[in-house]
Amino acid sequence: MSTVLQAPLLDTYARTDVTFVNGDGSWLVDDQGLRYLDLVGGIAVVGVGHRHPAPLAAAHEQLDRLWHVSNLYWTKPMTQLAELLSERFDGARSFFCNSGAEAIEAAIKYARKATRKTGIVALENSFHGRTLGALSATGQPPKRASFEPLVPGVTFATLNDSSSLATAVDDNTACILVEPIQGEGGIHPARPEFLARARDLADEYGALLVFDEVQTGVGRTGSFFAWERLGTKPDAVTLAKGLANGLPIGALLVANDAAGAFEPGDHASTFGGNPVVCAAACAVVETVDDGLLANVVRRGEGFAQRLERLPGAVEVRGAGLLLGLEIDRVASDAIAACLEHGVLVGSAGERVLRLTPPLTITDDELDHALHVLEEVLT
Ligand SMILES: *Cc1c(COP(=O)(O)O)cnc(C)c1O
Repeated sequence: MSTVLQAPLLDTYARTDVTFVNGDGSWLVDDQGLRYLDLVGGIAVVGVGHRHPAPLAAAHEQLDRLWHVSNLYWTKPMTQLAELLSERFDGARSFFCNSGAEAIEAAIKYARKATRKTGIVALENSFHGRTLGALSATGQPPKRASFEPLVPGVTFATLNDSSSLATAVDDNTACILVEPIQGEGGIHPARPEFLARARDLADEYGALLVFDEVQTGVGRTGSFFAWERLGTKPDAVTLAKGLANGLPIGALLVANDAAGAFEPGDHASTFGGNPVVCAAACAVVETVDDGLLANVVRRGEGFAQRLERLPGAVEVRGAGLLLGLEIDRVASDAIAACLEHGVLVGSAGERVLRLTPPLTITDDELDHALHVLEEVLT
């Protein structure tokens, strides 16, 4: 492994001392030439694998053509991406930005404008991003404490506790904001009946039901949107992480029948809808087809079953290739040991290994990962 690096950066990350210089499929190469199997995938971002030929070619072609014109004008990749996403979420309309947090900011503003109400109901242990609005809806007190006062009007309910949700929602609720599977919070899936209750409450009180699919979207759980497997359709969805396979993008998608609230001047993003990023995203969306999704389901199920049998395994949670392995000890030591063995593993909470490999990972690569995990956890 390389020497301990330093750089004149603000101290926001506890980085692992490895510098990557190359990526290919499910593999990364560091500056010493060592190869690593990547079960982090840039935190559920590199969905179709490093340098997948389709988004790579699309981005290259667009780089050679046109980089930026702003939202004063149209570009073809942006229009095409909006159309592709609209097909996936019957007629939805998109707003493009550059990150997950920005997509959440857009969702909060949209819900307030659409309902003329101000309240936000979010969940304890949720994660929606680090900007002030998104942080206000993030139910993790340690992440919030140094930055209070945050945006007022947020009430927190408990995941999978329908009565706590019913207590939190009232006549001033503009939106109910839910991750179909809580990601950063430790890989905790919402139950279908909880989401159905959220749908009913949103309808009853005239609030928007917003699913934060920044982590679960774009095929990560085995369907393009996680809600497709869960039986509850939202009014709006946020996407980001996997949408452009690593180029920065965020999106708010609003269902067609709820889509009339924003008018010109209400919201904007200089870089949002950037043609290079959108060209890559179009290629990603086309690559995440039924065949790839079926593979995510099959590989995810097999992987989860085998993770459950590992020494020290307490519980495996999640769906598709968004999996959390809770172990009977702290995750950090296991993660460091995996790195020594050339396998990158993430965490989501103190005792949870987060496994979010490229959706294109092969059976042989998963075998290799399990072999290393077994050795490390024994
Ligand atoms: C990562 C994440 C965000 C924040 O995305 P950024 O691009 O880091 O701003 C928001 N919501 C969920 C569910 C996420 O996983």
